[in-house]
Amino acid sequence: MGEFELIRRHFQRESHTARSPVVLGIGDDCALLQPRPGHQLAVSTDMLVQGRHFFADVDPQALGHKALAVNLSDLAAMGARPLGFTLALALPEASDAWLGGFAQGLFALADQHACPLVGGDTTRGPLNICITVMGEVRPGLAMQRSQAQVGDDLYLTGRTGEARLALELMRGTDWALLACGPDALAQHPELRERLERPTPRLELGTLLAVLGSAVHAAIDLSDGLAGDLGHVLAASGVGAEIALAALPLAPALQPLPMTHRLDCLLNGGDDYELLFTAAPASHTPVQRIGRISAAPGLRVLDASGHALAVSTRSFDHFA
Ligand code: ADP
Ligand code: MG
Repeated sequence: MGEFELIRRHFQRESHTARSPVVLGIGDDCALLQPRPGHQLAVSTDMLVQGRHFFADVDPQALGHKALAVNLSDLAAMGARPLGFTLALALPEASDAWLGGFAQGLFALADQHACPLVGGDTTRGPLNICITVMGEVRPGLAMQRSQAQVGDDLYLTGRTGEARLALELMRGTDWALLACGPDALAQHPELRERLERPTPRLELGTLLAVLGSAVHAAIDLSDGLAGDLGHVLAASGVGAEIALAALPLAPALQPLPMTHRLDCLLNGGDDYELLFTAAPASHTPVQRIGRISAAPGLRVLDASGHALAVSTRSFDHFA
């Protein structure tokens, strides 16, 4: 299989509807993209290197997912909507089985966010995956690290630390195995999932950006909460306080002794959650208080999920 056959077989797909921003995709010297009128182009690149960012034997499907996910996460952090991406690939060999799995993971996520592959480069070499994503955002709406203001509230999506714990368990690190047991990865399948298949928070990112003046700074967490928040603080010239009790603690992290638990929560990498700041005065407190169900009627549940015997009728002047 030659270079062009490889690209044709695994990466070239029929696409491009009339409303697509892709005017010209794979096959020419450049791709041509057309952002909507009145938008800025947001561009970001992230590279994954074998041995540094992933193990040699990682599932190629997971790797395809993650290579794109970490890039889409950067768009999410700015509040940009994806337009398309390029893929620069160095491969030690052209294995159909490996490429098939990789492309499957890659395109599943790409399709989910309507972010087509529009070009790239393919060469022989030690396994290395470099993706560049392009997105669009309205002028003035992109959330920047430099925009945190004194008095802002600090918000986090999801929870941190699981990817780090997964990594330590896979490496066979003593403190992780000792606290969580040798079967921890099997007992907590979400750990490997968090490390290998992170979810870019694109829907929330684009939503936050259109809130405009209420949301100030944002960053995606790739290198650990403390360090990445540190980038926001440095860029904004401010400090911050975090309430430890407010940080969500994943079930798998609970058996860890405090020092390692803190290290996972604050310094574990690969979380790909969003951290953002917002003005306290400009928002109404919002709480998740339950969910809509298929079963008719309303039930009020206690802490263990049992329905309480409380009246759920509203006040009636004539009753
Ligand atoms: P050039 O000589 O202009 O660099 P190439 O011969 O490297 O072009 O690539 C041919 C076409 O295939 C180009 O349109 C390029 O964008 C695309 N391409 C190459 N590698 C990939 C890849 N891994 N994924 C998607 N498109 C690719
Ligand atoms: Mg080339």
